[in-house]
Amino acid sequence: MSKHTPKAHGHKARKRFGQNFLHDQYVIGKIVKAISPKPTDCLVEIGPGMGAITEPLLEASGKLDVVELDRDLIPILRTKFFNYPDFRIHEGDALKFDFSTILEPGQQLRIVGNLPYNISTPLIFHFLSHYAMVQDMHFMLQKEVVERLAATPGSGDYGRLSIMAQYFCKVEPLFIVGPGSFNPPPKVDSAIVRLVPYNELPHPAKDHKTLERVVREAFNMRRKTIRNTLKNLISAELLQEIGIDTGLRPENLTLADYVRIADKVVDLNLAENQNES
Ligand code: SAM
Repeated sequence: MSKHTPKAHGHKARKRFGQNFLHDQYVIGKIVKAISPKPTDCLVEIGPGMGAITEPLLEASGKLDVVELDRDLIPILRTKFFNYPDFRIHEGDALKFDFSTILEPGQQLRIVGNLPYNISTPLIFHFLSHYAMVQDMHFMLQKEVVERLAATPGSGDYGRLSIMAQYFCKVEPLFIVGPGSFNPPPKVDSAIVRLVPYNELPHPAKDHKTLERVVREAFNMRRKTIRNTLKNLISAELLQEIGIDTGLRPENLTLADYVRIADKVVDLNLAENQNES
């Protein structure tokens, strides 16, 4: 058996599912303490793997839904947690799973996951667009992704992910986890982040989709000036009118600046539609 394909309980870690299993009890304890699960929580874990975090979560809350793509892991999980009647396994892709089906009336989801790197960003964007059903999220991600989530204007890590995450959530990087805590060890450092959706958005935009579009266009060419990257959406004159320095690069604008731009784009589109009708 090669060093990078360890077998535990007869399961061989699969690279294509991003399987790096946590084995470090100290780190597992720290993660669960940060989550602080309660029996009343509507807790869901994405990618339970062989149950490293699942076990202490279940011990604390007694109730847990998990979504796991690797069908070979399902019998292992069933056996391990057979004595928890409120442990529910959903076999399938978390990117396609309808999380609203596990919501109980009047509750919000607490989402947990040591996420495989290939689905982490699309999954975060998915939950951001459904932020109203989420109480909080605790994710283990590549450290670099956590840096992007938490980045502030002026930094090279600041971009679409930072702006959209910070638009919807308070972003709290918690701690770094080294490769040695996993089996097999990944090539890079990981980190735990807590994302807490705001009850009231600090910078509400008239239309979230327009904000997303403005941010995406702006960062398509992050080395150009904002005047250039947004020229298909809004003129330099209008940008100046709302107080944007058009010579700045996309990474130098704040979330509030992007919201102002997006709101102006909404007004422009409305005016155009009215002229056409
Ligand atoms: N939670 C376990 C741990 O910490 O040891 C496993 C973490 S491992 C990094 C990622 C887990 O996500 C694996 O169990 C993998 O099979 C699962 N997975 C990968 N892609 C998935 C997807 N699209 N939907 C649901 N689970 C997925």
